[in-house]
Amino acid sequence: MSRTDHRHPNVSGLRPRSKLVHGGTRRSSFDETCEALYQTSGFVYGSAEEAEHAFANDGARQVYGRFRNPTTAMFEDRLAEYEGAEWAYATSSGMAAVHGALMSGLKAGDRVVAPRALFISCYWILKDLCPRYGIEPVFVDGTNLSEWEEALSVPTKAVFLETPSNPGLEIVDLRAVCDLAHKAGAFVVVDNAFATPVLQRPFDFGADVIIHSATKLIDGQGRGLGGIILAKDKKYAAEVIHPFLRNTGPTIAPFSAWLLLKGLETLELRVHAQSAAAFQVAQFLEAHPKVERVLYPLLTSHPQHDLARRQMTGGGNMLSIFLKGGKSEAFNTLNGLRMVMISNNLGDSKSLATHPDTTTHAKLTPEEKAAAKILPNLLRLSVGLEDTQDIIEDLDRALAEA
Ligand SMILES: *Cc1c(COP(=O)(O)O)cnc(C)c1O
Repeated sequence: MSRTDHRHPNVSGLRPRSKLVHGGTRRSSFDETCEALYQTSGFVYGSAEEAEHAFANDGARQVYGRFRNPTTAMFEDRLAEYEGAEWAYATSSGMAAVHGALMSGLKAGDRVVAPRALFISCYWILKDLCPRYGIEPVFVDGTNLSEWEEALSVPTKAVFLETPSNPGLEIVDLRAVCDLAHKAGAFVVVDNAFATPVLQRPFDFGADVIIHSATKLIDGQGRGLGGIILAKDKKYAAEVIHPFLRNTGPTIAPFSAWLLLKGLETLELRVHAQSAAAFQVAQFLEAHPKVERVLYPLLTSHPQHDLARRQMTGGGNMLSIFLKGGKSEAFNTLNGLRMVMISNNLGDSKSLATHPDTTTHAKLTPEEKAAAKILPNLLRLSVGLEDTQDIIEDLDRALAEA
């Protein structure tokens, strides 16, 4: 880092964790230590000529909050630097990012292929929204490469996937699916919310666009909603994604962008700690007499744990617990928890447990639930930042009483 450039530190020589602390910083003339929150919707000009010049050189300076904001730009640039993206745009929620990344590149007559195991709102965009605009969604078993091969044997415009999936923790082979997608002419959008950029780097396996629900581990403290779209190729983003976002306005608020920007500084430390704790909790639960089965990417019992080890550097903070019994055992266990909170949110510093069958995935049909393995005895656990032993003891007591 150059001493002379303290207002705009050059982080190119730094290691990834340092980039999360300093990347994208633009200091004002007040030389503040902490990144400034520019809570403004517009910008002023010293003269009419200056305004004319700003509009003639599109993007060269800030002109309006829907297009750019200095605080938001710091968040975008910092994560782009870390993730290896040429372009990024922060959105008001993770779903706004999914919608923008997909719909910007699709039109009537196009075909989009995705796994059935998707976050419920992502599934809605594909299954319900796409057909309204003449876009055909095709669903596959994301873990079955021959289904991907068949679905991608005809020209396709887009592939959308999430790995590990929520809450089934299914792993999609990123390299193989990206190769098949590109041969079919499709761009690939990866929802990287569960793994986070710390544990999985989809661009290295061929993804074209990455989206995150920054609401989850990027904030990490349950304080605000946000999302981000990252593109590997600036040209594609400039031609396809940016005009769509700029004109439809799913923009993040500067305050939320500031929270997420500060969240990035501790992202690696938190994700490594939560992922290590989740692995310990998973091992404990797998040996528990009241538990039928635990799904966690790094457990050798996970059907795709070899693949998980090839494309992830850690298992993440999420686990799926299938209890012996059904809904009442699941409810009794949730109701017996003292420290772990009952919540449908995830990725918080507080450990959170949910019953997907009756909450997040309640609207699925019985067939869709069966395909996504949303069973009455399933609990989803988001491991937080508490002492791992306290998490284990809380679960152990709740299971014993259930
Ligand atoms: C939460 C989540 C989303 C949606 O993000 P919001 O910030 O709630 O809009 C999308 N994908 C996955 C995998 C998620 O967990």
